[in-house]
Amino acid sequence: MTANLLDYDLEGLALFCERLGEKRYRAVQLFRWIHQKGAVRFEDMTDLAKSLREKLTMTAHLSALPVMSQNLSKDGTIKWLFDVGGGDAVETVFIPEDDRGTLCISSQAGCAVGCRFCSTGHQGFSRNLSTAEIVGQLWFAEHFLRKHLRQAERVISNVVMMGMGEPLQNYSSLIPALRVMLDDHGYGLSRRRVTVSTSGVVPMIDRLALDCPVALAVSLHAPNDSLREDLVPLNRKYPLAELLDACHRYLAHAPRDFITFEYCMLDGVNDQVEQAQELVRLVRERTSAGLTCKFNLIPFNPFPASGLTRSSMAQVQLFARILSDAGIVTTIRKTRGDDIDAACGQLAGDVRDRTGVEERILRQRRIVISPSPNVMLADRAH
Ligand code: SAH
Ligand code: SF4
Repeated sequence: MTANLLDYDLEGLALFCERLGEKRYRAVQLFRWIHQKGAVRFEDMTDLAKSLREKLTMTAHLSALPVMSQNLSKDGTIKWLFDVGGGDAVETVFIPEDDRGTLCISSQAGCAVGCRFCSTGHQGFSRNLSTAEIVGQLWFAEHFLRKHLRQAERVISNVVMMGMGEPLQNYSSLIPALRVMLDDHGYGLSRRRVTVSTSGVVPMIDRLALDCPVALAVSLHAPNDSLREDLVPLNRKYPLAELLDACHRYLAHAPRDFITFEYCMLDGVNDQVEQAQELVRLVRERTSAGLTCKFNLIPFNPFPASGLTRSSMAQVQLFARILSDAGIVTTIRKTRGDDIDAACGQLAGDVRDRTGVEERILRQRRIVISPSPNVMLADRAH
């Protein structure tokens, strides 16, 4: 098997070039061809010596995961389903906004954490994605979008590791992938615009701070340990106090001067006034000690197997007001792409039909599978 060059950060590619008997600086040229120009074939890399192109053709290849389907939402959100083999798939979502383009990337097929409100969690864990499979989502999406939007400039300005999986439980693949995103010869994304979201793998938060500090979002979801244990089973291993200590330590290295706390609003479970007040007390104690944070309330995106329901908008707003009145910056996340099941926590990537037949038929009816991306995006422009 030849090497997939999407697996390497720049240093890795330099070592690969050395093994081919080439100078390290060749890696920069090669890296730019791959990530900045989106080249797929070595013979197109015209400023590389023919001998090197031949060596590359013999020893290496460039490939992202195969695309199984592609859906466009009414709001412009695009969801791709990538085949990871073994009957599993992962999802990648592009969310266009006026001032940015955000790509939501998956890190694992399934997830071992098993949060109660998350459809990926209900699916169980299948496998870690390789660096190439993580980077490949960005490589594919960026160059696909540039081509179909006829844009020469960068389309994706932000990456959030908020797709399927717990990125900090796939650390060794994650770090080189982040480095490719940040590298000026790669995607040149600013550290502030690359966000790792975690359910709270405490030791890995500390390692991330040293290895590759990017913006950090922590999925909190509860104001105390007993409720959090119920919603996010990982809390048994890393309880709130330890998690908040880790967040505090992270700030010293973080590119932003705050941590984002995500809080999924579940009707009657974690959205009550007393719980907002308890959260204020929990956070105040920490902020007075220097842990700056912002809250992002996410209205729960329901799926049948969860047995949970979304908080009413009035309740979400009330909860938000209690936090903001206490001086905690709080936003409510706008749900995007829910007509194509691309919203947070709806990413099931399930091709094996673990859900009931009726539900699947219903879902498929709602999904618009376009035969051609060209047509799809052209439609959008009119
Ligand atoms: N595993 C990481 C990142 C992926 S989940 C984490 O848990 O942080 C990304 C975000 O989506 C998390 O904040 C998660 O809590 C949220 N989420 C999961 N399921 C959801 C659902 N059904 N509705 C709304 N948000 C959900
Ligand atoms: Fe895994 Fe995140 Fe879903 Fe929890 S919310 S099961 S950590 S993907």
